[in-house]
Amino acid sequence: MFFVYSIIGGDKLLTMKKIAIIIGTRPEVIKLAPVYLELKKSKKLKPILINTGQHKEMVDQMFKWFGIKENYNLKLMETNQTLQNLTAKAIGSITDLLKQIKPDFVMVEGDTVTVMAASLAAFYLKIPVAHVEAGLRTGDIYNPFPEEMARRVVSRLASIHFAPTKKAVLNLKKENIKNNVYLTGNTVIDALLYTTKHISGSKKKLVPPMIVRSLDFKKHRVILVTIHRRENFGKAHREIARTLIKILNNFPDTVVLLPLHMNPNVRNVIKPVLKNHKRVFLIEPPGYVPFVYAMKNSYLILTDSGGVQEEGPTLGKPVLVLRTTTERPEGIKAGCAKLVGIDPKNIFKETAKLLTDKKAYKKMSKVKSPYGDGKASKRIVKILEGL
Ligand code: UDP
Repeated sequence: MFFVYSIIGGDKLLTMKKIAIIIGTRPEVIKLAPVYLELKKSKKLKPILINTGQHKEMVDQMFKWFGIKENYNLKLMETNQTLQNLTAKAIGSITDLLKQIKPDFVMVEGDTVTVMAASLAAFYLKIPVAHVEAGLRTGDIYNPFPEEMARRVVSRLASIHFAPTKKAVLNLKKENIKNNVYLTGNTVIDALLYTTKHISGSKKKLVPPMIVRSLDFKKHRVILVTIHRRENFGKAHREIARTLIKILNNFPDTVVLLPLHMNPNVRNVIKPVLKNHKRVFLIEPPGYVPFVYAMKNSYLILTDSGGVQEEGPTLGKPVLVLRTTTERPEGIKAGCAKLVGIDPKNIFKETAKLLTDKKAYKKMSKVKSPYGDGKASKRIVKILEGL
């Protein structure tokens, strides 16, 4: 039933199934890089890497780190393009390419426009879709926007679902998605462990940006902050930025390290509030490896990112989630993360607590990560090989 890719190796005829891995943004590269590297070792499966180019600069650095080369780049990135335009362009371009390479499977990860468009394009061509990080839900279709809808649509279109946690498996079951659902752990932990291993003493070189290197992580307590959620554009981001100033003014031994997201809707609001404070370090997106270095050395993480919520606990860093809802309740339940919302008073209160109450800090930082053990990619590839 599957299209078979044949190569001649010595006197052996090997038949390999082709898997088109379609990525477009930073987290998709991070979370699919370990799967790609694992697929490269497979004798039964051949990965083909397609980059839609939804994020440009942020993705290239990651390819380098993982030693990965894309096979195709659709170059879909345009400054300030609408979701509608991006979705339409992505479906068209991905369809044309899939018709040309005729893969046996399409693999996507997560909940971006790329992921939804790629799944729909594959579905129309009746190519089975394997969805990594399946089953995450907040229950609110507008939060996060548009990711919650994207992931729901992908679950309907996909034939194989790799769920990172038991909760994600349950979420799929509730929507009557029961066939080909596999509990694997989250591949973000595979990428993180690969990276921390290489950071601490390998041939691969870690070069954090100057500003990160020059931060004295021993002298100051570094509060690492990332914010980029579309539903918080504008007022919520401005208020979060003002709260950071209040935190700094109340705790003179702290500094804020804030890698700015590329999206102008984020940077244009945050920058004017924070740029003149001496203990705020606003930096360009530092790339994954320096970012891991910063996470590892920070005291505390404040974030609205999905991936960072998963990574912080593995590094023993308490995570305060700057959102009103999360599709990652596992960390909240386990006690390594706290949903603090976007109300300035609450953000200040919870941050101040962790900066003053050593017991509370220690308790959060000791909780075991509920997101995986670093072997998710191996599991995924084994399952795919057996299909
Ligand atoms: N990340 C990064 N550099 C940064 C901020 C985040 O490499 O400046 C990484 C982070 O380690 C995580 C991923 O990007 O693995 C999360 O991406 P993002 O927050 O953009 O998306 P989300 O996870 O919310 O979908």
